[in-house]
Amino acid sequence: MNEREENRIQHYDRDHVFHPLSNPREMLDAQALILERGKGIYVYDLNGQEYLDGMAGLWNVNVGYGRTELAAVAEEQMKKLSFAPLFWGRGNRPAAELAEKLSSLLPGELNHFHFTSGGSESNETAFKIARYYWRMKGKPEKSTLIACSRGYHGVSQGALGATGLAHFVEPFGNRPPGYAHIPSPYCYRCPFEMKYPQCGLACAHALQECIRKIGADRVAAFVIEPVEGAGGVIIPPAEYLPIIHRICRENDILLIFDEVITGFGRTGTMFATLRYDFEPDMISMAKGITSGYLPLGAVAVSQSLYRTLAQADRVFFHGFTYSGHPVACAVALRNIAILEEENLPQNAAERGKELEALLQRTFQRHPHVGGIRVQGLIGALEIVEEKESGRSFPPERKMGEKVGAAARSAGLILRPIGDILAFSPPLIINDRQVEQLVERMKTAIHSILGEA
Ligand code: PMP
Repeated sequence: MNEREENRIQHYDRDHVFHPLSNPREMLDAQALILERGKGIYVYDLNGQEYLDGMAGLWNVNVGYGRTELAAVAEEQMKKLSFAPLFWGRGNRPAAELAEKLSSLLPGELNHFHFTSGGSESNETAFKIARYYWRMKGKPEKSTLIACSRGYHGVSQGALGATGLAHFVEPFGNRPPGYAHIPSPYCYRCPFEMKYPQCGLACAHALQECIRKIGADRVAAFVIEPVEGAGGVIIPPAEYLPIIHRICRENDILLIFDEVITGFGRTGTMFATLRYDFEPDMISMAKGITSGYLPLGAVAVSQSLYRTLAQADRVFFHGFTYSGHPVACAVALRNIAILEEENLPQNAAERGKELEALLQRTFQRHPHVGGIRVQGLIGALEIVEEKESGRSFPPERKMGEKVGAAARSAGLILRPIGDILAFSPPLIINDRQVEQLVERMKTAIHSILGEA
């Protein structure tokens, strides 16, 4: 693209695009990173500059960019039937086929699917189903939702209530009523200042205490990401979720997994749920369901929940215009076929192990790289002022942001969350590209923080 053309687009962007999750003041004179095309794990800006997309867009482009077969499926479905609602007992073929496919991928009980357009809508839907369910059971006072302090469940009002991260909530007024939070299972900076495993999983048992305080007869559900993404890639110890599940069962509280990031192969299995021998009551999903080729989300609902809802003999007054959009569902079906045909969950598990080992080898002795954590192809490393104590840099030094900018100059997109550098590359990444990712990360870290 010539310079004039590039300037034109930059101007249009600066003068007219209201960028989400960006600083409007900075955007008055900052240049956005405007991308033009993508292929495999790489994206290219207006200038043709290449970046290894270490974030797979927003943790979602699982099958990578430039899959012409997904475009072909979308074209075919648009020509055949571009839209058909699921309201009022109506349906369409791709939505039915996708629901059947999803039910084959999940444990047996999770076999009904409410479709949405994305992650926030999926959580809104799951929370409303939870509250509706308890009403059907004659317990309308069971309505509080408990979540984790570093959990991210979306930004629409209902989902936002569960999002623990205060900076998403406070600028917009009070948190909606009916939500409570417990500390996240963040071992690197344990909220209880304990060490695993001597801690006895105090963070999991905090759920019991929270329920006791509110009263189990007032709690509808507990919602958690099996790996917390936007909160800084918090990977709980293996025993954590089984304890949470037991506490939910003992207190007659629904368990909702938010698999918006972890679903569709990200952690090394098709769903993170499959790592455990128990089932949640609902799973919200989005992102990787279409690898971001079109917006789509879904909530998996267990058979017993669905049966209870069905007892009411009345309309379930909830749904979105684009619930079960036929084009998005057709693309999702083909996207899932690619994940299966190319064994991408397994590739995530294998490449993830290589990535973790390589990060350990590269940064183990670096005085400013603290915790390194990886599960499948989601992970993070923490930049610290002092490795020994894990002491952070003062936030005003914006070290994470600086490393993020240096990574971009080195041709790598990462996501700084404060001083936590998160990564989640497309699941098609190969071993050579894993090395390239770490090499570019090293260039960025060394340029800001010096060599080990
Ligand atoms: N839940 C989780 C775990 C997420 O990571 C996100 C998005 N990053 C959401 C929900 C919200 O999804 P959306 O932005 O599609 O509404």
